[in-house]
Amino acid sequence: MTLKSIELFGFKSFGKKSIVNFTTPITAVVGPNGSGKSNIVEAIRFVLGEQSMKSLRGKGGSDLIFKGSKGTPSSSRASVVITFDNSKKIFSFTSGNIKNSSSVSLDYDEVSIGREVFPDGVNKYTINGTEVRLKDILDLLSSVNIGSSGHHIISQGEADHILNASNKDRRGMIEDALGLRVYQYRIKESTRKLEKTLLNIKEVGSLRREIAPHLAFLKKQVGIIEKAKEMRDELNNLYRDYISSESTYIKKETDRLNKEREYLDNRGRDLDERISQIKNNKEEKVESPYHKDLKEKEEELRICRSQKGELSHRLGRIEGVLESIEREISNAQNVKERVITESEWKSIVSEIEFKINEAIEKENLPEIIEILRSIKIRISSLSENKDITPKVNENILKEYEDMKKLKEEILENVNALNTKEKETESSIFDLREKERQNEISLRDNERVLYELLGEKNKIVSDTHSLSFEEEKLGLIKSAFEMELVEGGVLIGRDIMSFTEIESQKEVDRKAQEDLRKKIERIKIKLEDVGGGGGGDVLKEYEETKERDEFLEKETEDLNNSIKDCQILIQELKETLDKEFKEGVEKINKQFQEFFSLMFGGGSAFLAITMEHKKVRKDEIFEENEEDYEEDEDEIKENDTELGFERGIEINVSLPQKKVKDLHMLSGGERSLTSIALLFAISQVNPPPFLVLDETDAALDEANSRKYGNMLENLSKYSELIVVTHNRETMSCADVLYGVTMGAEGVSKLLSIHLEDATLYAK
Ligand code: ATP
Repeated sequence: MTLKSIELFGFKSFGKKSIVNFTTPITAVVGPNGSGKSNIVEAIRFVLGEQSMKSLRGKGGSDLIFKGSKGTPSSSRASVVITFDNSKKIFSFTSGNIKNSSSVSLDYDEVSIGREVFPDGVNKYTINGTEVRLKDILDLLSSVNIGSSGHHIISQGEADHILNASNKDRRGMIEDALGLRVYQYRIKESTRKLEKTLLNIKEVGSLRREIAPHLAFLKKQVGIIEKAKEMRDELNNLYRDYISSESTYIKKETDRLNKEREYLDNRGRDLDERISQIKNNKEEKVESPYHKDLKEKEEELRICRSQKGELSHRLGRIEGVLESIEREISNAQNVKERVITESEWKSIVSEIEFKINEAIEKENLPEIIEILRSIKIRISSLSENKDITPKVNENILKEYEDMKKLKEEILENVNALNTKEKETESSIFDLREKERQNEISLRDNERVLYELLGEKNKIVSDTHSLSFEEEKLGLIKSAFEMELVEGGVLIGRDIMSFTEIESQKEVDRKAQEDLRKKIERIKIKLEDVGGGGGGDVLKEYEETKERDEFLEKETEDLNNSIKDCQILIQELKETLDKEFKEGVEKINKQFQEFFSLMFGGGSAFLAITMEHKKVRKDEIFEENEEDYEEDEDEIKENDTELGFERGIEINVSLPQKKVKDLHMLSGGERSLTSIALLFAISQVNPPPFLVLDETDAALDEANSRKYGNMLENLSKYSELIVVTHNRETMSCADVLYGVTMGAEGVSKLLSIHLEDATLYAK
């Protein structure tokens, strides 16, 4: 037996622990009205997870708890445990995710499902004593075709429940009986997941929309920062060239100008010195140093020459005198000697001397000649007037000798004067040469001075040019220093290292100026873009981008999940549809059989209907696949649209009667039809047990017999628990339980025999 027992404690009228053991295919529960039979049926519903309080005939959890009676105190909770045999491992759990689920059989020989309810309505569920969720219990039960629709438990007065149910509810019962509820459950779960995913995707979408403008702003900022960085890199490179070249240029120029300055200063000083030297020399040497000597020598020469001339005159006169004396002497030797007295001679000589000196003084040669002629005449006259003796006067001879001596002396003097003259002339020549040299030298100094002054002028002019250049370089230096400061702000301290780099190439000022202009343009652009302090922005951009990418990935995952859900739902629906149709066909066969058995003919079958329904939003997806990605607003709009839903219609045709409408059947006919259908359903997919609470109440004796036959037939597939007052039915049962309720208001159970049962039932 699959169903082994049910234990009640504190449940409704069962204030004390009561156990019903199911050991045979058909167990009948009998007892008088109000003894608590139906409470047993409800206990079974309760423990199998029934959530409808109405089905349990109560309003809240506390209605299910034993209220207490005179002798028995009330219970603190209602507890029911139902135990199944699982030696054949018929119970299993659904495992895996919603998409790929599989069954895992429960590895216990016995499965006990328990439920407790407390006065506050809180429920506690257990499987083999372990607390579980309701879902777990429903999942476990669905594996043995016990669904929540409760088609396998027919409560009192609900024999025709399946006939009264709507097409849609009937479909639910049949799905349940066919074990298809698991599909419904999974469709529902998938739909719920789909809804949740759609909500998530909407939330993610709105989050992305929220951060989109900020992200766009940050992206723009990052673009600007990156542009600025590019520009700063370019600026860095340009600065490297510019600063190294400029620094090299300034160093070289400073050196050059310093050297130039040093040279010009030194040269200027030298020139000043030399110029002033030359000027001073010039002033000192206006007169030649040889001039005085020369004048002296010239005077000496003049005197020498004058003396020499005088001596020459004297010499000439003497020579004339000598000559005349010699002639006289010669004449006296040839002619009569003429005797001249001494006094006469003396007078003549003194006269000659006087006249000659006078003539010499006057340098008058003709006069000297004239004198000499007059001397001759006088001498002749003397001779004529006197007796001339050819004898030569001794005085004359002496005179002659004296004259000769004098001549010799004079010649000596003349010679001495000649020597002196020559010497003096030579000295004068030397001095004049020296003076000439001096003059040449003076003229050279003049030229040098002129040249020096010219050079000095040039030095002054060069110094002016140099000062101008120094000033210019000073400006270049200040501009350079300013550039270093400005550049430092833009590219950092690195700029200072560029000043250490020595430019190898010749610095072209034009190229340098072009470079500076280029740098200036980039600086302006940098100023325009701003872009300072980008670290925070970059960090924020990275974080925001990461977040957006995460959300994008999330959206993608969610979209995939939506697609998976939609595919799963579609597949589940297709499987459900297929199995449902096949199941209904099978049921129809059984239904027809049981029906004609009950009614001795006629026909009965179930038809699948498609009816309009108000579409729930989850079902819109099923019908309009393209709408899946639409906004929820759209979905809500679609909520009002009409769709179709499947239902089950019961078609019967009683033998010899034209009645086809279920409403027109009698109570008994309704019971029989419903029993035929329930039995048909149960046989197609037999549940472990069926509970029939006074399903036979409306049957007459003949039908009760047929009913009993069917029970026996059905008990081959499912255990039957029948609550009955019907003796026919009781006779089918192998075990009978009698339920009594004494004056203390507590239901009690006891096993009874068939013979006592009828009595019991009354
Ligand atoms: P019938 O044959 O008339 O259908 P029954 O045997 O099926 O009767 P039940 O309906 O199972 O009888 O039992 C009803 C009894 O249970 C009532 O007497 C009611 O007072 C009692 N009962 C219901 N709820 C509680 C409760 N919470 N505490 C105590 N007794 C309760």
